[in-house]
Amino acid sequence: MPTDARQGPAAVLATLERLIARLLDAARPARVAGIGIAAAGQIHPETQAVVQAPNLGWHDVPLRAHVRDRFALPTHVENDVRAAAWGEYRHGAGRGAGSLVAVFVGTGVGSGAVVDGRLLRGAGNAAGELGHTQVAPADGAPCGCGQRGCLEAYASGSGLIRRVLAALERGATTSLLPAAGGDPGRVTADLVAREAAAGDALAAELWADLERYLGLALANYVTLVNPALLLLGGGVVAAVPALLDAVAAAVRARTTVMARSVRVVRPGLGDSAGLVGAAALAAEAA
Ligand SMILES: [Zn+2]
Repeated sequence: MPTDARQGPAAVLATLERLIARLLDAARPARVAGIGIAAAGQIHPETQAVVQAPNLGWHDVPLRAHVRDRFALPTHVENDVRAAAWGEYRHGAGRGAGSLVAVFVGTGVGSGAVVDGRLLRGAGNAAGELGHTQVAPADGAPCGCGQRGCLEAYASGSGLIRRVLAALERGATTSLLPAAGGDPGRVTADLVAREAAAGDALAAELWADLERYLGLALANYVTLVNPALLLLGGGVVAAVPALLDAVAAAVRARTTVMARSVRVVRPGLGDSAGLVGAAALAAEAA
């Protein structure tokens, strides 16, 4: 069911309740052990409330308490990207890997890590926010989180659009604008890659930055975590398949000897990874 976040949290929760009721009906007569939910945003480490979800416009929505009380079943809420990493680890391309990092480059840059068989969470359940690691030492591009110089400002769909708008304000001429039908909001990573290959200077600069900063951040992630696998997915990687090889080369070139054994591959579960991971976490908790 579409989220339709503009209707506010109460309407989204009502939609969610209808969906869960329908799934519980469909599952009969099987015993349902619990409910797993993958949700966008920061999830409170104890209450599993959604502390903040900019894309939904949510602040402190008690998601787990609400669903658990309504259905009287054990309920587990996980951040959607972290749930996707767990789904890939348990049932997807990461089975048997032991340690992996999963990075999804799309509208934003999301990531989750499994280290020695455990999901990496941190003190505030915020570990592994690769998209908001700093890649520019000074005067970085503005990021949606309020900081400057985050990876996401350079290596995501939303970051690219913001950088195109900034360049147009400075008076840059670029084939990106006519190629996007005159609407900078319709610039995609795919389009930037194509216009870069066709010789547009701005597109070439933006695409070079995307590859450079993504390679740098992923090499650092690999050095810090020493995963057996780096799963690289998301809309940008799907639209520009050559990006995977470019990133793999950067990771090989910029990591220490022991970390260099990492294999860079595509995730296996597609859009279902978060659902599979959330279900697996709920089953394991139950
Ligand atoms: Zn940021």
